[in-house]
Amino acid sequence: MVQYNEYLADTYLTEVATPVLAAERSDDGDTWVAVRRNIFHPQGGGQPADRGRLGECEVVPFRDSARGLVMVRARQEDGLEGLAEGDIVHTSVDAGLRLLHAALHTAGHLVEAAGRTEGWALAGSIHFPGQARIEFTPPEAGADLADAEDRDKAADRLRAFVAAMVADDLPVTVDHDAEGLRIVRLGDLHAAPCGGTHVRSLGDLTEVTISGVKVKKGRVRVSYAAAHGPLA
Ligand SMILES: [Zn+2]
Repeated sequence: MVQYNEYLADTYLTEVATPVLAAERSDDGDTWVAVRRNIFHPQGGGQPADRGRLGECEVVPFRDSARGLVMVRARQEDGLEGLAEGDIVHTSVDAGLRLLHAALHTAGHLVEAAGRTEGWALAGSIHFPGQARIEFTPPEAGADLADAEDRDKAADRLRAFVAAMVADDLPVTVDHDAEGLRIVRLGDLHAAPCGGTHVRSLGDLTEVTISGVKVKKGRVRVSYAAAHGPLA
C-alpha cells in the first residue's frame, strides 16, 4: 500500500484529486481514510496539522505509525462514510494556513542557525502560530545571559543575523542522507533532519521577528514569529 506524501515534495500543492487507498470504520464509529497522493501534513516535529477537506468534509490528518500512513478523520460529525478503496476524491488544504506553517517552520530553522552562532545547541522547537520558539542549551547554563542587558544584546545579534540571511534569500532545499533521512538545508548555512513543510527560499519570509531571549530552567528560549510574503 504505497502512499505518496506530496506535502514533502511541494509545499505549494494545496489541492489534488486522488484515489482512496484505505477506508475503515473504527470501533467507536469514526471513519478513517488514507489517500494515495496525500497533501495533508499531520501534526509532528513541532508543526501543527494542516486543515483540509476531503470532498466537502472538513478533515484532520494524523499519522498512523503502525501502518506508516497519514490518515484523515472528519473534523466534526462523520462525513467520510461510504468511501471505498479506489474511489477518486478531491482533497485540499487551507492554503493560507499551510503557508503560515511553512513560514514559521522555516524561520525556526533560521533561528536555530542564528543560535548556533552564539555557541548554543538545539534543545527543542515549537512552530505553532502565536507560540513559536526555539530552545537551546547554552555552553554554561546561560551564565553569560544572567543580565537582562546581555539577553537584549544577544536578541539583537540574532535579529541582525536573521535579517541578513533573509536579505540574502538563501535557497531552502531538501535531500536525503545515506540512511534515507530527509535533510532540509538553508543554503550552505544550516542543515537539519526534518519532515515539515518549508518555503522555497528565505526571501519568501516576511515579518520575521524575534520577541526576545529568555533563560528558563537552564535553557535559552528564543520566541519568534514569521509570515509568508505574497506569492509571486
Ligand atoms: Zn523543517
